[in-house]
Formats: sequence, structure tokens, C-alpha cells
Amino acid sequence: MKTEQVGEIESTATVEQVTDVEYDVPSDETPAYTCPYCDRPFRSERYATFHVGNAHPEACTESEREAFDEERDDEQFELFTFHVKAAVSVFLLYFMFTFIYALVWVG
Ligand SMILES: [Zn+2]
Repeated sequence: MKTEQVGEIESTATVEQVTDVEYDVPSDETPAYTCPYCDRPFRSERYATFHVGNAHPEACTESEREAFDEERDDEQFELFTFHVKAAVSVFLLYFMFTFIYALVWVG
């Protein structure tokens, strides 16, 4: 489906953007984790896990791969929950307006 494809492209772009911007550690900060494959510093283990899964998919171990898949699944679940909440909010808003509209007509 077309919508699904667009969603996939968007999420890939987001991952790349985050890799370039937020993963970087400021020079006055001591990195909490360092990539074992390219020595790139990271502020948290989660970022390092993402980086290893994205940048070294062939070099990383099975457990690192699993950790990356888990983090990614978490993120996709969070995104799904957000979409459900947004849909419910829109529905409730629509319902409320219909209700008010009906009240105005009855009254
Ligand atoms: Zn690396």
C-alpha cells in the first residue's frame, strides 16, 4: 500500500537524522558508551545499540542484533500507541461537536 511505503521512508529518514544530530557527544562531555567497531562515542547505551544495528549490521554479534531489534520494536510500539491515541482524540472531538450540535438543535 502507498501509505505504508511513505511511512517506512519517513521513519528511515528520522533514524538517519537522529544518528547525525542527537547521537553526537559534545566535546566537554565524557561519552557513556563507545562503539566497539568504530570507536564512536555515545551518550547512552540505547544510542550505541541503535548505532551498532544501523552502521554495523554485518559486524555486530547476535545479541547486539537482538538488542537493536528490541529497541526498534519498542520505538515502533510507541509510535503505534501515539497513533491510536491521536485517532481516539479526533474521534472524541468529533463526537463532542456532534453532541453539542445536536443539543443546539434540540434546545
Ligand atoms: Zn560504530
